[in-house]
Amino acid sequence: MYRFLAQAEITKFSHRLGTAVVKTTVDSVLRDVRAGITRDAAAIPSFETLLERVTTRLTREDDDGLVPVMNGTGILLHTNLGRAPLATAAVEAMCELGTGYSNLEFDLEGGNRGSRYARVTSLLCATTGAPDALVVNNCAAAMLLILDTFAKNREVIVSRGELVEIGGGFRLPDVLARSGATLIEVGATNRTYLHDFERALTAHTALLLRSHASNFRIEGFTAGVASADLANLGHRAGVPTVEDLGSGALVDLAQFGLPHERTVSEAVADGISLVAFSGDKLLGGPQAGIIVGTASAVARLRANPLLRALRVDKGTIAGLAATLRLYLQPDGLQQIPLYGMLGTPLDHLRARAEALAETLRDHAIDVTALPLQGYVGGGSAPDAVLASYGLAVRSRRGAAHDAARLRTGPRRLVARIADGTVLIDLRTIRPLRDGDVASAVAALAA
Ligand SMILES: *Cc1c(COP(=O)(O)O)cnc(C)c1O
Repeated sequence: MYRFLAQAEITKFSHRLGTAVVKTTVDSVLRDVRAGITRDAAAIPSFETLLERVTTRLTREDDDGLVPVMNGTGILLHTNLGRAPLATAAVEAMCELGTGYSNLEFDLEGGNRGSRYARVTSLLCATTGAPDALVVNNCAAAMLLILDTFAKNREVIVSRGELVEIGGGFRLPDVLARSGATLIEVGATNRTYLHDFERALTAHTALLLRSHASNFRIEGFTAGVASADLANLGHRAGVPTVEDLGSGALVDLAQFGLPHERTVSEAVADGISLVAFSGDKLLGGPQAGIIVGTASAVARLRANPLLRALRVDKGTIAGLAATLRLYLQPDGLQQIPLYGMLGTPLDHLRARAEALAETLRDHAIDVTALPLQGYVGGGSAPDAVLASYGLAVRSRRGAAHDAARLRTGPRRLVARIADGTVLIDLRTIRPLRDGDVASAVAALAA
């Protein structure tokens, strides 16, 4: 027991979990070993083996469920892996505000109650050109708030081509139904014209709605209504227009060689009354639902008591504000990890892949550097391929076995499998973790 407790790696666990937990764990490992020895006297493990078993169990004890993983999938916005990684500035702001008190709802000048949204609102207006803004839990909540505020017991007109289901079971028709609105579908799956909306307008029309088709694309003989035309129709009819933008790019993705993805500013400039989007997709911030729009429409949302149930905490506001500030700084964009990864030149990725393959050459495992294809993810740019580079790993045990070991090993590397090969895309892995990639792959050979 004392020999275990004297080990540096065990001391680390004693500090985190308490000595009692460590002692119980050592006891239980030793008990298991003794039970094994009574059956087979030759099977006495070395101290190092025992120490490894103890640390493995303690690591599991220490695990609070949610742990960091390395994303080797090449999908930048992977909803299962937590979507956008945060900028250091955002994490620092969350840390600084989270560990103490803040002026969350306090006006320091007047010494009385203030608005929790004031600071982030002005940053959203500055980055999108909208007159006003509001932040809620996520984009689904944003849509719920909008529909509940404007469309209860009234009609919402939507094109048939945009009634899609996105990941996680979010379906616009279902959210509409929950909020007590009647869905008026217009046009055909592939073609909808402005006059389809025009004809559907009645005295009961509450909103004209547009939605990003997310991971879905209709190709061929198609026609959609231009956003500015829809906004114009809304103005003429006195009906607000709403756009569920989903990903909510604040910058043009074309600068990264990707197809142009409609930006929030474009939707605002088109005259859409309310634009809703996520905080943790192309914006690159914490989970949030952001609504920008006209002062009168946002004021109605702010007056809805439902907002109280959808409000965000101080950490979200701090992280979101710090992320938005980066958009206003000259070199800020590349400090947002998503754009840092998007902007990484292919030859950098190739050099890393080749160096890793070289490092792993003498190990009893087949590793090659090769070009790969990544994706933006998060429902944006669904058919845009990101040229990338990474590793292909092959072993006798097979891809499923190796991928599982990479996931459950100490580095928790999530890789892709294609054609019976494990693929590790380096675009979604920070260069300073390349040593961990090497160790994780080398461990497969052992
Ligand atoms: C992702 C997405 C949503 C949901 O956003 P959350 O922030 O995850 O709630 C809604 N609509 C569209 C079009 C999306 O792409």
